Formats: sequence, C-alpha cells, structure tokens
Amino acid sequence: MRALTYAAFGATPVVASVPDPTAPPGGAVVRVVASGLCRSDWHGWMGHDGDITTFPHVPGHEFAGVVEAVGEGVDAAWRGRPVTAPFVMACGTCQVCRKGAGQVCPHQRQPGFTDPGSFAELVVVQAARTNLVALPDGLDPRLAAGLGCRVATAYRAVVARAAVAPGESIVVIGAGGVGLAAVAVARSRGARVCAVDISAQSLDRALFHGADEVVDASIGPDRVVAAVTHWSAGGTDVSIDALGSPEACRTGILALARRGRHVQVGLLPPAAGRADVPMERVIGWELDVLGSHGMAAADYPALLGDVVSGRLALDDLLAPGEPLGLEETGAALVAMGSTPSRGILLVDPSR
Ligand SMILES: [Zn+2]
Ligand SMILES: [Zn+2]
Repeated sequence: MRALTYAAFGATPVVASVPDPTAPPGGAVVRVVASGLCRSDWHGWMGHDGDITTFPHVPGHEFAGVVEAVGEGVDAAWRGRPVTAPFVMACGTCQVCRKGAGQVCPHQRQPGFTDPGSFAELVVVQAARTNLVALPDGLDPRLAAGLGCRVATAYRAVVARAAVAPGESIVVIGAGGVGLAAVAVARSRGARVCAVDISAQSLDRALFHGADEVVDASIGPDRVVAAVTHWSAGGTDVSIDALGSPEACRTGILALARRGRHVQVGLLPPAAGRADVPMERVIGWELDVLGSHGMAAADYPALLGDVVSGRLALDDLLAPGEPLGLEETGAALVAMGSTPSRGILLVDPSR
C-alpha cells in the first residue's frame, strides 16, 4: 500500500510503498477514507514524542474509513462498515478500561505514534471490540475523519470534565485546533465563551465559531486575567488551557470565579517548565483543577449525535478545499510548525 513515511525525526516525509498490514487477533484493518492532519503529527516528526521508536514511521492518528478485514475473535459483521476510532486505543480488558476510562488505559496504543498511522491506505485498529466506533447513517466518513483528535478531546474537556451548563461562562486559552473546537462545543452547549490568543487570525476564527468575547494575549497575563474577570463580572465558571504552557495554565486558574473548574487539555511536558499552580487560590476559592486526555470510544455516540443533529457544526471546523494527497501532506506536515491553522486539514490517502 501507499503510505507517507519518514526515516528519522526531521527527515523529509516521502510517499513509499509499504507492506499491507494484517488484522491482529482481536483487531481490524480499516481502509482509510480520510485522515486529519494535526499539530501532534508535527510534534511527532520533530521528535517531541517518546512513543515513536521505529523507522520508517507512518504518521497520522485521526481517521475514518471502512473496515477491510477483521482478526481472530472479531465479529465479521464489522466488514464493510464505515467507522472511526479514538487516537487513544484502549486495551479494553484492564481494570481501568473495565471502569469505562479507556482514554487513560495504561496499555493504550496510538496509531501514528506507538504504531503505524493513518497517512496510509490501510491502518490497524487494535482491540476492535473496544475501539471501533460505527458511524451513524448519513455521516460522511470524510467529515468524521476530522473529529478523532482535536474535536473529541475538546468535547470530553467541555462536556464531561468541565460539565459546562447553559448560561455558564468559559474562557478558552489558546485558539488553535483544540481551542477552537472547545469554543464551538461550549457554544453548542449554551455557554458564554471568551477566547484568548496572541494571533488576531485565531481570534477571528474564535468569533466565527461563536465566541462572545476575545482577548489578545499579547497584553500580558495580568491584564488578560483582568479583562476576562471584567467580561465575566467576577471570574468565569470554567477555564480551559488548550495551549499547554505554564502561563496559560496559571492565567486560566486566576480567571476563575470562586468554585470554578479549570480543565488542562494542552500538554505541559516538563521540558516546557512546570506549571506554577496558585494552590492558595485553589484552596481558598474551592477551585477544581482537572486533567482531560482524549476521549474513549464508548463516549463517541454522544458526540456523533451532536454532529448528526446539527447541534455541533463539524464542517465549520474543517479547512476549506479538497483533501490533500499524500505528497502534499508531507509538505503540509513539515510546514505546520510555522503556519497558523486554517481549520482541520484532511488527507485522502488514495490520492
Ligand atoms: Zn486498558
Ligand atoms: Zn491530534
């Protein structure tokens, strides 16, 4: 099959012919209809992700397609069905999975990181019974490919972790892929949304997705906190750090009202510095500080329902234009470090 591969971190990605994968016991092979290109693919290519250990490596971790083959022990009725899968593929059998928390399974596998990814004609889904998500009738797999990473992550953060209620105020710090999806999800849930970013273009996108207020982060963290506190008349009910920086984390927590909830979504690798969480405020104001990591397959039906019903306009989150072919994807991946997002770029591996 054709796949986009790179031979080392930072090496130019090339389209190559690689062996077709076979379905492992309990797993499935999916023919990829479309795949989303995400900043995490760029981080992986740069060598920022310790899960990539074998080369040549095939990136790509959010996708939708059609089940091509199933392994031993998997219901053959899956064959030919349109599906997607979370980028955190849970084992489905450990204690954590049995409690319904596959998004933090200690044995998780991730296509495009621990395993070959979806910038290829075929991709393996491990533990198919746990991780395959059937697409509802009427949902185009090309559209569904855009919700596996940023949208699912934002959905879990806003709906499950923050449990945002209609009329509540929320500040989203960082209007990149996850941040813009969080803005759209929060609006779809009837919240009042303020977005914070240093890029005027990103703030314009936040307004397009329904943000009620935007704040230019270049005014500095103290003034951002003051502006958000003023907008929300005393602090927000919810804050989300969708950027992942010690400053964004602290700003989010300081912008909360008493008893507010902060959700940390942006990755804070220790190399970027430890977050300086104002614990005296957390205690004195009874704040909740929550982490959020992907979304388990079992939680997809609610998200898919919101997309099919039109409550969440997923197509608005996609970049305009036709999907990229694999050759173009290599160039787009390399350029990701320096170009602001125009929305979720889709990849068609058959092109
Ligand atoms: Zn597990
Ligand atoms: Zn991603």
